[in-house]
Amino acid sequence: MQNKPSQQKDIIRLSDHLPESFKTHSQFIKRVSCSQCGAPKSLPSKTAYIYCDFCGSLIDYDFRLANANTNGAYTNTAFHRIIAPHQTALAQAKAQGDRDTYRKIYTQVFSQWLQECPMAVSPRAMNDLPFRQQLIAYFAECAVTKDLDPRQIPLEAAMQELVALLKRYPGPDGTWMVSGNIFWDYAEVFKQQMEMAYALIEKSGVAQMDPDNAQPGVALRMEYSTFCQSWLPHLSPQDGERLLKYYGVSAEYDMVKPQQTDHRLCGCCGSEIQSLPGAKQVVCESCGFTIDVGSQAIPCSKCGSLLSFPVSAAHLLCPYCSTDNRRI
Ligand SMILES: [Zn+2]
Ligand SMILES: [Zn+2]
Ligand SMILES: [Zn+2]
Repeated sequence: MQNKPSQQKDIIRLSDHLPESFKTHSQFIKRVSCSQCGAPKSLPSKTAYIYCDFCGSLIDYDFRLANANTNGAYTNTAFHRIIAPHQTALAQAKAQGDRDTYRKIYTQVFSQWLQECPMAVSPRAMNDLPFRQQLIAYFAECAVTKDLDPRQIPLEAAMQELVALLKRYPGPDGTWMVSGNIFWDYAEVFKQQMEMAYALIEKSGVAQMDPDNAQPGVALRMEYSTFCQSWLPHLSPQDGERLLKYYGVSAEYDMVKPQQTDHRLCGCCGSEIQSLPGAKQVVCESCGFTIDVGSQAIPCSKCGSLLSFPVSAAHLLCPYCSTDNRRI
């Protein structure tokens, strides 16, 4: 960090500002169990989206991995750039309670964002177009529900007031820092906003649009993670730890233990998949499709590769020789 070229001063690598204990190590696994089947997570995950090793359900969102694998600063900046030209229209739609326009704009914004920053969301959205469309619709509906709730107006006003009061002072490497009570008041109002928003998202049934069907806490954890990603570079390491604890996104991690796994080949992309004995379906982290690992692999009729089919696919093109294979 010391000899960073001056033109890169505004590019902040979050990992440089994270408290030491939150820097990622691939040999660690977040201690968490699946809410659907009860299995503990025991295979390492490549992305922040932690899918069950046995049933493929989304279990959790790992803040540590979010910082290691996606450039949080980059995806947030891209989002702000994409949404900027729409701010006036959004404010207008919000003032008029025009949910259709608001939804339409956000659908467009999220579509563009996912195109530019596929790493900002679940790997399942990479190639699975129906999944991606549904995710965009879900994100847009969450924005409508959150932003057009009249109870949010006083909280939003409080946020703006607090952020205006926030004293920014120069920090190391040409960036700015914040500290003190106003920041913690700001963090608290954000928490109130999000708790209120996600309670409504649950109650109104919008949560059911989530193609990942995640349990309630996961979406909140993603919001808090994004908030932390944008503020951590501007906090002292101690305040950083405090913020992560405050939002419950700090977690306990275990070392990866060696596991007896079956080596399988993803029938969609040809990547190797490790599966635990007894696993039924798992998300392939290379292509994002959910793969049936409970049934026997099927040999390609031409090249003989043992292919594991995606769930509910009746046939697939062999990723090695392009031969069309049917599930028997
Ligand atoms: Zn499970
Ligand atoms: Zn794959
Ligand atoms: Zn083949």
